[in-house]
Amino acid sequence: MRVAIAGAGLAGLSCAKYLADAGHTPVVYEARNVLGGKVAAWKDQDGDWYETGLHVFFGAYPNMLQLLAELGIADRLQWKDHTMIFNRREVPGTYSRFDFPNLPAPINGVAAILNNKDLLTWPEKVAFGLGLVPAMVRGQSYVEACDQYSWTEWLRLHNIPERVNDEVFIAMSKALNFINPDEISATVVLTALNRFLQEKHGSRMAFLDGAPPERLCQPLVDSIKARGGEVTMNRPLASIQLDGDGRVAGFDMGGPGGGQQVRADAYVSALPVDALKLLLPKPWWQLPSFARLKGLGGVPVINVHLWFDRKLTHMDHLLFSRSPLLSVYADMSITCKGYEDPDRSMLELVFAPAKDWIGRSDEDIIQATMAELKNLFPDHFSGEHPAQLRKSKVVKTPLSVYKTVPGCQELRPSQATPIANFFLAGDYTQQPYMASMEGAVLSGKLCAAAINQSRMATPSKTH
Ligand SMILES: Cc1cc2nc3c(=O)[nH]c(=O)nc-3n(C[C@H](O)[C@H](O)[C@H](O)COP(=O)(O)OP(=O)(O)OC[C@H]3O[C@@H](n4cnc5c(N)ncnc54)[C@H](O)[C@@H]3O)c2cc1C
Repeated sequence: MRVAIAGAGLAGLSCAKYLADAGHTPVVYEARNVLGGKVAAWKDQDGDWYETGLHVFFGAYPNMLQLLAELGIADRLQWKDHTMIFNRREVPGTYSRFDFPNLPAPINGVAAILNNKDLLTWPEKVAFGLGLVPAMVRGQSYVEACDQYSWTEWLRLHNIPERVNDEVFIAMSKALNFINPDEISATVVLTALNRFLQEKHGSRMAFLDGAPPERLCQPLVDSIKARGGEVTMNRPLASIQLDGDGRVAGFDMGGPGGGQQVRADAYVSALPVDALKLLLPKPWWQLPSFARLKGLGGVPVINVHLWFDRKLTHMDHLLFSRSPLLSVYADMSITCKGYEDPDRSMLELVFAPAKDWIGRSDEDIIQATMAELKNLFPDHFSGEHPAQLRKSKVVKTPLSVYKTVPGCQELRPSQATPIANFFLAGDYTQQPYMASMEGAVLSGKLCAAAINQSRMATPSKTH
């Protein structure tokens, strides 16, 4: 089967890889001149990389880990100590850790929480532990049912003091979806906690050893091409043409050199949900599974890169800033081999929530980030020789991953659609890993399986 796929993010590339593995011919069309979508990255004039987002891989990413193993690049993940590290606001320049001992789950997670003395009090730990019992006992069905609540509402329902939000869950909620606990669906936080507590290595983190387009997406493209598929850049899907039965007759592509109509046996949108909504043919909006897409939309986020004249940290890990403006950050000169600098820090910081900042100038954003950093590391920015910022880069994504607010789980479409020859891939489609790289990879795999299944149900014509 020839399958036209719009979008070369992780979902589109994973779909193409699994279709090619199954003997089909995928042809991927990407609008931009860079692979990876939300994991895209670029080199500046000095040869330094900057990225759409600071990306961390988790032990609880089975499909991503399997994909990397299949591509023969599992060694490109740089695994870090099994711990979660938070900045301590009350003692600037110091950290509070949740260290996971080498014990089976959930004992290692429980030990990590109990041994942390800085952030939560004993009564808070007990109240929180009791609150989690239904999620652990009843599993995913309970977790899904909690989609009617925000995380803050869920805490209140369980009589858990809201101070645990200030201490831990503002940071976690911003890391998961770039929004605060009063906005994020309880399902998202509970899903993450469940995986972290139920899988021994679930919360262990790794960084890729370089820029994702080169180190992760290119091997996917090589694998697709080696099995007869194609990946074409600078080719945006411009419109979806329908036949008399309301099925897809072809993809109209834009881009340099003018339009082109693409015909295939099956068609896939691996676009972000906001881009798909702009291209959805009018008659399809009558169908409930497409109509529900109206309730899904991307959340703004900003990724800030700061290059300093010296080392600010020696932490080889992701750090939760617990700052009002910032989410997680890392010193990429330490955590990522490809960005290594033995003498100077390059901090990559996720700026979230970003809704009030996405329209502001890069200068304003850098200034606000630096003010936050001065709170986190006062020693480096005071005295006679304060650390100097050598250069900076701001990458804004006004519509990034879909916003996981209460009620959005039931809006997420499956990979097979009511249109027999049209399929969906993307982190926003139904899969249990929410808006993540793992979710994107799994959605692509599920989409490839749905296409395979459709072929078995109805033998298709070849164009
Ligand atoms: C700042 C930030 C930090 C993140 N951190 C993490 C993390 O630490 N861990 C984690 O697991 N996940 C993280 N994520 C989430 C993760 O990046 C996404 O969930 C995942 O990459 C989404 O992949 P996708 O293929 O579904 O969508 P996308 O990556 O958005 O891919 C869609 C592709 O479609 C293309 N496209 C758009 N319109 C058209 C068109 N008309 N024609 C053709 N192509 C088109 C786009 O250019 C893009 O390449 C982060 C995201 C951001 C933004």
